[in-house]
Amino acid sequence: MPTPTQPLPPSIQRRSTITFDWQAEYQAPYSGLRVLGTRWSPASHQVKDFLGRNQIPYQWTDVEIAAPDKEVEQLIPNGDFKSVSLPLVVLPGGEVLSNPPLGELAARIGLRTRAETTFYDFVIVGGGPAGLAAAVYGASEGLKTLLVERQAPGGQAGMSSRIENYLGFPSGLTGADLARRAFTQAKRFGAEILSPQEAVGLRVDGPYRFIKLRDGSEISCHALLIASGLSWKKLDIPGVDRLQEAGVYYGAAMTEAQLCAGEDVYVVGGANSAGQAAVYFAQFARSVTILVRSDSLQKGMSQYLIDQIRQVENIRVETQSEVVEVHGDDHLESITILNQETGETKTVPTTALFIFIGAVPCTAWLRGKLPMDDRGYLLTGTLLPKDGDGPKGWKEERDPFLFESIIPGVFAAGDTRHASIKRVASAVGEGSISVQMVHQYLSKVR
Ligand SMILES: Cc1cc2nc3c(=O)[nH]c(=O)nc-3n(C[C@H](O)[C@H](O)[C@H](O)COP(=O)(O)OP(=O)(O)OC[C@H]3O[C@@H](n4cnc5c(N)ncnc54)[C@H](O)[C@@H]3O)c2cc1C
Repeated sequence: MPTPTQPLPPSIQRRSTITFDWQAEYQAPYSGLRVLGTRWSPASHQVKDFLGRNQIPYQWTDVEIAAPDKEVEQLIPNGDFKSVSLPLVVLPGGEVLSNPPLGELAARIGLRTRAETTFYDFVIVGGGPAGLAAAVYGASEGLKTLLVERQAPGGQAGMSSRIENYLGFPSGLTGADLARRAFTQAKRFGAEILSPQEAVGLRVDGPYRFIKLRDGSEISCHALLIASGLSWKKLDIPGVDRLQEAGVYYGAAMTEAQLCAGEDVYVVGGANSAGQAAVYFAQFARSVTILVRSDSLQKGMSQYLIDQIRQVENIRVETQSEVVEVHGDDHLESITILNQETGETKTVPTTALFIFIGAVPCTAWLRGKLPMDDRGYLLTGTLLPKDGDGPKGWKEERDPFLFESIIPGVFAAGDTRHASIKRVASAVGEGSISVQMVHQYLSKVR
């Protein structure tokens, strides 16, 4: 075996696992993005969550507990972190942003938030599986395609710790991996992706459909797809709003998982998203308790997840149970649980509560513009409200396409559409199919 003083052939050097003494001690200076904050600060959580979901690598330092290093000492004199507006984001060039708005941070780290031009053949609102699939097919089939995403590509699926029922991935894949692959594929075909950027308004002028963006700019197109999906339903109990992102989180909040090491955490909800999160957090936490209102997990969760949960020793399930109050000063310290069967309550200590109690469609910005059901899901095709034989307000000679709304050329796909199946595969399917309808529509307007 060669000794460290003998040069190794290049092929072996590349594969070598020999560790020299100096390497064990040596720590390369970190030159990437750095975030300094405190665990319980909602602003710190938002920055970490934003970077994590956009798959931007960063190094996190909790200034309350980390041993001060030279950089921290320079940035926070005398360790008095209450005197600075946290989090601090240190850019690779050394510039420091103090508690930056996410839009500004996005622009500084090179994410695209402004469109290259003002007109596109096809604009998609929402970068979940439906929107990304539409972007892949639209761009690959020659349409000048723009996708607008308000948080991070991937949507709800991007928050999943492991998707195991998506065709072609027999051992599953993480939502982050799926999002990264789909994003790369859409970009490779030439789709333009703005993220973070939010659609806030829709107007129509002749054959043009206009989308107003949060920054005040407008984009026009011939065909528009609404694939804005769902966002978490809020839990309306005392204390939750005050402690949100300071121990109380909606969704899986992956960035917090490792910080739960050795702690007892609680997951509220009985659907697959709650089950996946419990299995994921159980790798880090001392214990995970799932609180579910119904009398068994069978009512809302897939059998494969129930089987997995049974095999994880540190997961407990409390049925017929609900959280009725959360407590803590600047962060979550305990929660009160009501047992619906006995009527008894108990208060237990915990620093992390993850809430998965269902979702609502992200369509508030379309109210009054597009027909929706009483819960806000968009109505399309044969489901549009009728007036006599045809859809109310429809002026074309042809019938609306299956995913077309009351405005010709404006389509809806994925979870946000009334009667959709809430699955990754069906969102991908609907996003892909909608592009066929877009082609048929464009063949008459261009
Ligand atoms: C934690 C979790 C785990 C899941 N696990 C599975 C699983 O294992 N298998 C499975 O099949 N399904 C799973 N699902 C369900 C699946 O993820 C969804 O059915 C799917 O993501 C729906 O895709 P979508 O594109 O329709 O909507 P979404 O995924 O909700 O994406 C919509 C996107 O639109 C964006 N948006 C909303 N409004 C605007 C606006 N005004 N402007 C710009 N952007 C906007 C949102 O930020 C979001 O990124 C899971 C869901 C969750 C939450």
